[in-house]
Amino acid sequence: MNAPGVRSLSLGEHYCEICPSGARIAGNGEVHVITPDGIIYCAPWLILHYIEDHGYVPPAEFVDGLLGDLPYSWNATSEHLCRVLLDDSLSPGWRVDAAIDLAGWQDDRVYGALLDASRDAELVDVSAMEIGVSLAVLWGRAGKVNFEIYKSALPQVQWGVYREVWSRNPDLAVDLSRPPEGFDF
Ligand SMILES: [Zn+2]
Repeated sequence: MNAPGVRSLSLGEHYCEICPSGARIAGNGEVHVITPDGIIYCAPWLILHYIEDHGYVPPAEFVDGLLGDLPYSWNATSEHLCRVLLDDSLSPGWRVDAAIDLAGWQDDRVYGALLDASRDAELVDVSAMEIGVSLAVLWGRAGKVNFEIYKSALPQVQWGVYREVWSRNPDLAVDLSRPPEGFDF
């Protein structure tokens, strides 16, 4: 998967109700997929299991987003999301969502907005991980981590980058110094 947002983790586990009892296939979050037009599909994490094992067929746009028909080209949606991300008069929740969804676009304007967000202490308080993950997604696609930016980022943001790079692009992670302890929440 390229950049679907995983959200609402650990709201409790939900077991598949189609599998025979005892199979205990569980999910504990949601997966969000944004389309180029800004439509956001939300599904329980178990949708991956429903598709693979139970023949469920979600809308084509959802599958495209899930399977990595990304990145999208700069458009009105990314422009809007950048504005939301950097507008400190808006609710932090919206801005966090924008930080996640912007990973669907590979564009210098998106990159710049995420960098600005990574230096915004107030925003970092609520969304360091999401900002770090989105930066890591952009670096992963580019095949190169910007170590200077990584080193100068706030430690909370570094943790988001560090985890994401290790989980999806371990080849890029070998030279990535471990962020300081105590900021990995
Ligand atoms: Zn099942």
